[in-house]
Amino acid sequence: MPLLSLIVLGIGIGAAATAWTELKTIDRSGRITGPVVLAQSDKLRELSEQTLRQSAARAERTEAAENAERENQEVRPEREPDTALSIAGGAPEPDNAPRLRIVLDPGHGGEGLKDEQELGAIYRDTYEKYLTLEIAEAMREELSQYGNVEVFMTRDTDRALTLKERAAYAESVGGDLLVSLHLNASLEHNFYGSEVFVSAFEYFHARGAGVGESILKQLTDYGFVSKGVKTRLGSKGADYYGIIRECKSLGIPALIVEHGYMDEDSDWARMNTQEALENLGRRDAAGLAAYFGLEKGSVLSKLPAIEEEIPAVPVRPDTTPPEEVWYKKERQTDGRFLITLHGVERESRVMYYDYSTDGGETYGGLQLWGTGETVRFTMNLTGEEQLVFRVYNNYELRTETSG
Ligand SMILES: [Zn+2]
Repeated sequence: MPLLSLIVLGIGIGAAATAWTELKTIDRSGRITGPVVLAQSDKLRELSEQTLRQSAARAERTEAAENAERENQEVRPEREPDTALSIAGGAPEPDNAPRLRIVLDPGHGGEGLKDEQELGAIYRDTYEKYLTLEIAEAMREELSQYGNVEVFMTRDTDRALTLKERAAYAESVGGDLLVSLHLNASLEHNFYGSEVFVSAFEYFHARGAGVGESILKQLTDYGFVSKGVKTRLGSKGADYYGIIRECKSLGIPALIVEHGYMDEDSDWARMNTQEALENLGRRDAAGLAAYFGLEKGSVLSKLPAIEEEIPAVPVRPDTTPPEEVWYKKERQTDGRFLITLHGVERESRVMYYDYSTDGGETYGGLQLWGTGETVRFTMNLTGEEQLVFRVYNNYELRTETSG
């Protein structure tokens, strides 16, 4: 029985951003990365090269990025056309063998220390732009061991590229698919999990979602929680994310892989070393290869047929928070309270919940919801606490219920 009044709150990254207009930053994927990014980037701007080098000693992956940068300055003072990055599949291929042209797009990039769009998310004394490049390199390396595939990269150095340029590059190499690689962050630093964004439309949706699900399976095997394959539309009804929209306009399906949250400890632990980042890249490659039926070290004369369901109408994002949210508490014989928390999500799925025992002043971390419409757990309570529960869908929209 719903004992308590229902308060519906829609707090997503986009919704909350209006309150932060002065401070908000938007990354290359169009994602608002929030005020903390700016605060931390101010701090980082003050760091001298020397300090950066010291922190590199702590974080080996930063060191690797610097090496790459130094190398790039020495070896490639002029930018060469990135077609040079083309790597054929590991085995010699007969002329008539089918060949997929996969374009990897390491998110962000650019040598300046001021442009948040180029830097991407900034946490843990590093930049998203470095990590995405590490992941992409590993993905390229791994994919190149499969037959029937040719791999390209929009950048293999720390260089700035607009989304239009990335898409145009994919078209110039005859790309069949673009995979944009990113790491996430949230305003309240509480979300965790992997998610994939794809076009809402037709074949672009079907192909992106198919590859995305396959990659998400690899990432969940590694320990990430999956937030699923999602779409997002802009105010004019087109795909919200620029890289997806630009690629679609050139006839290329694209997906954005948000591997996990840099500002959340459990996710960060799966990306905080060179090995971890390489693991991510290898898993992305394995997911993609599995979807297309590619085989390591052998060239197939024919790739397996893929069954894809082309949606007849746009696959819209969920824009409403969970419904039918209520809780009840029952005192047990041992004095503790059994909490039953209920939530229904008809358009997407319930993803997390959290709660406050002080009327909403402070909340504990996000708990996983599971697959049912109800979660049950016991709490040590006096019975006098002002409980507030919040139930979230996988679009980060939440409904609050309190007594
Ligand atoms: Zn990003």
